[in-house]
Parts: sequence; structure tokens; C-alpha cells
Amino acid sequence: MIITLKKGAKPKEIAAVTEKIKTLGYKPHVSKGKDVTIIGMIGEYAEKYKDAFEAMEIVEHISEIQKPYKLASREFKKSNTIIKVSRGVEIGGKKVHIMAGPCAIENKEIMFNTAKIIKDAGATILRGGAFKPRSSPYAFQGLGEKGLKIIEAAGEKLHMPTISEAMSPEQVALLSKYCDIIQIGARNIQNYDLLRAAGKQPKPVLLKRGMATTIKELLLSAEYILSQGNYNVMLCERGIRTFEDSTRFTLDLNAVPVLRKLTHLPIVLDPSHGTGVREYVGTLAKASVAAGADALILEVHPKPEEALSDGPQSLLPEQFCALVKELDAVAKAVGREIL
Ligand code: PEP
Ligand code: MN
Repeated sequence: MIITLKKGAKPKEIAAVTEKIKTLGYKPHVSKGKDVTIIGMIGEYAEKYKDAFEAMEIVEHISEIQKPYKLASREFKKSNTIIKVSRGVEIGGKKVHIMAGPCAIENKEIMFNTAKIIKDAGATILRGGAFKPRSSPYAFQGLGEKGLKIIEAAGEKLHMPTISEAMSPEQVALLSKYCDIIQIGARNIQNYDLLRAAGKQPKPVLLKRGMATTIKELLLSAEYILSQGNYNVMLCERGIRTFEDSTRFTLDLNAVPVLRKLTHLPIVLDPSHGTGVREYVGTLAKASVAAGADALILEVHPKPEEALSDGPQSLLPEQFCALVKELDAVAKAVGREIL
């Protein structure tokens, strides 16, 4: 349930409510608005304590969240969440951010060259996987910690926040050490131990929708992270499996307005995996911005034909540079901006 406090509640009064929640064996989730503070008390049978909280002087009213996901819902938080990443990057505001880089971190040279290219073009976040979830066990699996050191150094040099994927709960601490955003990939969306581990550390998390995951399941997976106390979660639509086989996946643009309605969390679109075809990435990237994405994540490689992973969907540097300009025009047409 949501406990809404009276306007101007003081820290001591907020603490009285959170302490009471803890005494009852629940975890309080505090969300401070401009003048109203709301506290989520979530868990089985929380509603049976409704009267006890209603009796408190500082409590304005209590409501129940009808949706199965609670902290992720618009009912819990009306205003869009803005995530402060690092180096001044904020996701969820007027600016649409572009995360870009190679699918996998392959070596220092490619990472640094690509980082410079995408930064000069207007991207604000550097991507690259060190732990790669490959369909084949014989395919390149990523450089591991060595790769994380490379992306960290590239981010440092170019003053860009970085994003990379964690595939297991054990990898979360490593990712949290070297990167600014932890990605949880499509294949791990229902790895609940991983979600909980990501929720127990402070770095923002980009949670990718599974290829056969409903929007409701995506929000319930986000709830695992939020319920552990990490409220900096962004949701990523990266294409789902449909009967259509002319593209690698089908980017579900419907998810953008649906998520916008159901949740306050930032929405990120991945047209690279969503199409799997370089030629189509730009069109879907523009459509994503027009639909209302808060950020895009795009794969770029200086020599896609030699890429160790996802070459066919990686944009060439010159394609990426031209695309960002077009994306900025689309963003401006919908009241946002990129450059
Ligand atoms: C990736 O970002 O390279 C990746 C593996 O993404 P997904 O989990 O969406 O397939
Ligand atoms: Mn990839």
C-alpha cells in the first residue's frame, strides 16, 4: 500500500512512519516529491495494517496499488523518474541520450577509436560487453575483467559514463566497480538472483526485456531490483520473437506508450538487436525517438565485417554520425533534444 504523508512532513515524522513499517517486518520505500512524501509499504498482507497507519497524525491518506508490480507503477509515483548516472548525464528528462559502442569489447584500439567517434557524433554513454551471452558456446564469450578495464579507461579518457552487461549475481560487484550502468540482458530477465543482486548495489541498471517476455513480466522483473532499494532502473525494449523472420527480432514500438502509461521508469530502445540488420537500424531508431524513447542503445563498429559479435547489425561510424543528426531533428519535432 502507499502511505501519503501530509504536505511538508518533517524528517522526524517521516522516520516515525518508516520505523513503524520496519517494526512490522516490511521495508519502507520512500519517494520524496516537491512537497509531498509518499512511502510504499509492500509485501504480503501489508494492507491489514492500514488502520494503524491511518491513525497516525502525519498520514494524509492510504491507497492500495492494484497492479502486481508496485514500486514500478505509476500509481506509486506519478512523475517520470530521472536517473542521475554520472558525469552530469541524466536519463528521463528532456534530453534523449544515445548509448553507443561495439557489441563486445574486443581490444583497446577498437574501444578507444569507437568511443571517440561516437562521442564526437553526440553520444553520451559508451557501451560494450565484457561478458557476452552467446547462443553458441564456441562463439567469442567476451574479455571478462580485462574488457571492463578497457571500457573504464575509455570512459575515463573521453569523460563518458559506461554501460556493460552482468550475466550472473557474482559479476555484479565487478560491473559495479568498473562501469556506471549495469546492463541485464534479455536472456537474464528472469534470473531473479541476478535481479536481486543488481538491486542491492547503487549503480543504475538497464533492464532489457526478454525476447518472449510480456510488458507485465518486464515490470515485475524491474520490481525485483526496486524492491531491494535500487530505484535507478531503466527499461529497454530490444525486440521480441514473433512469426516474422525477415528481421532478427521485432522491435515492439507499442511498448513505448504502454510503458509510459504503466510506469514512471525511463524507457530505452535498442533498434540494433530489435532489427538485427544494419540497413534497418536507422529507421527504427528514428521511430523510437518519435515514439518517446528516453534513450537509445546502438551498436557501432569501425569494421563490422570483422566484429567478433553482432557485426551485421553494427552501424559504420559514418552511418552513426549521420543518424545522430537525423535523430536530433526527430527529437526536436517531439519536444525533446539530443545534441
Ligand atoms: C547486447 O546488448 O549486446 C545484448 C546481448 O543484448 P540483448 O540482451 O538484448 O540480446
Ligand atoms: Mn549485441
